[in-house]
Amino acid sequence: MDPTPLPAAIPAAAIPPAPITGASGHGVRDDADWVAIAGELQGLNVVSDERQRRLLSKDFHWYSPILAEQLAGCVADLVVKPSTEAEVLRIAAVAARHRVPITVRGAGTGNYGQCVPLAGGLVLDCTEMMRVLDIQPGRVTAQAGARLLDIELAVRETGQALRLWPSTWQVATIAGFVAGGFGGVGSTAHGVLRDSGNLLRCRVVTVEAEPRVIELYGDDIQQVHHAYGSNGIITELEVALSPAVDWVHVIALFPAYGQVLDCAMAAGGLPSFLMSAVDRRFAPYYTALQAHFPADRHALFAMIAPPAMDEFRRRVASHGGTVSLAMHEPELRAAGLPPASECAYNHTTLQVLKADRSFTYLQVAYPQPFDPGVVLRQMARWGDEVWQHQEFAMMHGEAATFAILLVRWTGAERQYELIAEIEADGCTVFNPHVVTIEDGGMKAIDSAQIEFKKRADPMGLMNPGKTRGWSPDMAREA
Ligand SMILES: Cc1cc2nc3c(=O)[nH]c(=O)nc-3n(C[C@H](O)[C@H](O)[C@H](O)COP(=O)(O)OP(=O)(O)OC[C@H]3O[C@@H](n4cnc5c(N)ncnc54)[C@H](O)[C@@H]3O)c2cc1C
Repeated sequence: MDPTPLPAAIPAAAIPPAPITGASGHGVRDDADWVAIAGELQGLNVVSDERQRRLLSKDFHWYSPILAEQLAGCVADLVVKPSTEAEVLRIAAVAARHRVPITVRGAGTGNYGQCVPLAGGLVLDCTEMMRVLDIQPGRVTAQAGARLLDIELAVRETGQALRLWPSTWQVATIAGFVAGGFGGVGSTAHGVLRDSGNLLRCRVVTVEAEPRVIELYGDDIQQVHHAYGSNGIITELEVALSPAVDWVHVIALFPAYGQVLDCAMAAGGLPSFLMSAVDRRFAPYYTALQAHFPADRHALFAMIAPPAMDEFRRRVASHGGTVSLAMHEPELRAAGLPPASECAYNHTTLQVLKADRSFTYLQVAYPQPFDPGVVLRQMARWGDEVWQHQEFAMMHGEAATFAILLVRWTGAERQYELIAEIEADGCTVFNPHVVTIEDGGMKAIDSAQIEFKKRADPMGLMNPGKTRGWSPDMAREA
């Protein structure tokens, strides 16, 4: 999911499309000496095997047939896996000395080709930087490549919990979430990554001849949040924690989709960690949940605080629904059932794509206050072409409603027709068929991020081609 657009400093539409491939135009060299580079990286964990390099040059952009075709040939020349910040500093110096592109990756679960090296070069894989460094009341510090689930398991020992995480948390890294993600599970309670108080401190390594470490605190971290690793290498993050809650994972079933949406809104005031409306057409793909999510009922997947369960059940009943499952996570695992969090966000899309690649998806934000009528009218208009799925969350202290719609793939032209229709209905589309930050979600160039890039990546080597805010004339020797 991508963020709601910020006020436009420079409208992205006013800028010509960013080049997709080729190093030229980004201050990088096309004639790098890879033998010399490999020599300078000696002693580090370097991957040169072609099959491994190909694997480590991919992410989940294959959800989009457009990106799958566009990015098919993008492969790193070398992959390097540091395990300490000192090693990152060394790698950054090598990249700067040879003026080669450097693309950082975590677990590679991003959907926009965020960590696909468009111009080849070095891929810096952070997954060996996996340690949880410090846990204090209200805060945890971890290395960039620590998996969110591992961090959660560590902080739970202290009765605390992460405030929000992507539904991919079993593999996704903390820096990948901050640099490429937006919000997710927990956003009903704690808002999104952009909301003050969620991100506390981070360390960023610059890419220049003598790399430095810059520390950012609080809202200044927004300079690297959702910047797709284009303006510095995050090595360490400190994020806020909340007291742990033993959430009840719930599925509530309804005959009509409007009832699910109304109930999700009515339950908005209850203490929850997830509130996700899912169209009944997804049901056959939730194979482990057949008994709890039958194909003739629409579902509300939720995570509810135990003391609020009675009231939640009342609200479900008053909207014509029934609760088909209510379990704590250990019970779910013991029964071989997925947690509600893995039935939401882009896991909904994944359930179908695992079985049937003839679909793709679109991401949408609705104007507030949310009008379920918009969804119901679109549902009637599109019939079986588009399947509905809405997420209810908080953002900047206000209610926010997003959709991750499953769309039958009938070609790029039809995708853009649908995007135009959705926008004509007053909604914002985060186009998942493009690679730049601005064309996808942000809609505008974030000038603070570009100013930070001038400090952290003065030669323009980081993840070239991913931001329209950087042009070759901005690059300088450093
Ligand atoms: C099934 C599915 C469900 C998803 N659900 C959600 C969701 O609920 N919410 C959400 O926000 N996203 C979601 N996503 C997108 C993605 O999984 C998340 O954003 C995730 O947090 C990315 O983490 P990662 O470690 O895989 O990062 P990667 O995909 O490896 O990288 C993401 C971006 O971060 C940059 N990056 C990685 N590490 C660093 C670093 N150390 N320094 C600087 N930049 C870095 C990369 O260059 C890239 O641009 C989902 C994706 C899938 C496939």
